[in-house]
Amino acid sequence: MQNENTVQEGEAIRIRNTSIYPGEHVQISLEIAKLPSRTPIEIPIYIYRAKEPGPALLLTAGMHGDEINGVEIVRQMIANKLTIPKRGSVIAIPLLNVYGFLNFSREVPDGKDINRSFPGSPTGSLASRVAHAFSEEVLPIIDLGIDFHTGGGSINNYSQIRCVFGEGNNDELARVFAPSFIINAKLRERSLRHTATKMGKSILVYEGGEALRLSRSPVRDAIRGTLRLMHHLDMIDREDLREMPDTFNQIEPIYIQRSRWIRAKAAGIFRTYARNGSFIEKGQILATITDPFGEFKVNVKATEDAYIVAVNHHPVVNQGDALFHIGFTHE
Ligand SMILES: [Zn+2]
Repeated sequence: MQNENTVQEGEAIRIRNTSIYPGEHVQISLEIAKLPSRTPIEIPIYIYRAKEPGPALLLTAGMHGDEINGVEIVRQMIANKLTIPKRGSVIAIPLLNVYGFLNFSREVPDGKDINRSFPGSPTGSLASRVAHAFSEEVLPIIDLGIDFHTGGGSINNYSQIRCVFGEGNNDELARVFAPSFIINAKLRERSLRHTATKMGKSILVYEGGEALRLSRSPVRDAIRGTLRLMHHLDMIDREDLREMPDTFNQIEPIYIQRSRWIRAKAAGIFRTYARNGSFIEKGQILATITDPFGEFKVNVKATEDAYIVAVNHHPVVNQGDALFHIGFTHE
């Protein structure tokens, strides 16, 4: 198994002009561009190499700068020394989109989404440059990775892994990670997952919580899942987690074969009754939409049995807005 790893035993990992050898823990800054104020924008990368060989696992977050749960997942892992493996390497990028983080926005200042800009270009606009640096410097040195996200806008995602079922070792990695839901999700053109898959690297996308909110359970679920994966990859031993015994509690993820959105038929104030993550039955009232004046009220009903995998937390909706993301365990 070991010689299948990207980085061979004793070999250096190289990022830009830095070589990182077994046993070294190094922080480097990948310079991307300069702000109009001439302030350089750099992506901090933390590399933890064990003396013993093993896989190189990427943990990356903050591609969408307003998705703070992901940043917190990687931050807590670094702060609690959970990114230090016994075998192999962890490459941790807590905050990829520094621009978006500063501006509380998903995108970079050119208005583009980094996750639609892969593999990127060294002469492109900002999103494209970030994607290019990532594709050139980070992806070649890893074996696999987890990309941490939340719902976009006011969408709150229940803890979930998104991957293509039946492709490579996705199924096995997702099962070991064991989030509440594992969702079959096609690759999107120009996404990190798309570029990584072409290079033969598995990237699991974790989604938990919503943008600009810090929520405890999606962060905890993701850290536990990452540790289970590291244990499965033989990067850490069970006794390394003796202070977190609940990490190995049996969790049975629910497999979602396909999903769709329930959308608003009317505009108004949106009040939800159904709990995120729960199973809903056909005919069940999930929410109401009312006008602000007490004159009308419409019920939002489940039209099929399904699981709720995401809920819109915005209190005011327009016609056609996404309300509930519902998932089915059958085709
Ligand atoms: Zn995201």
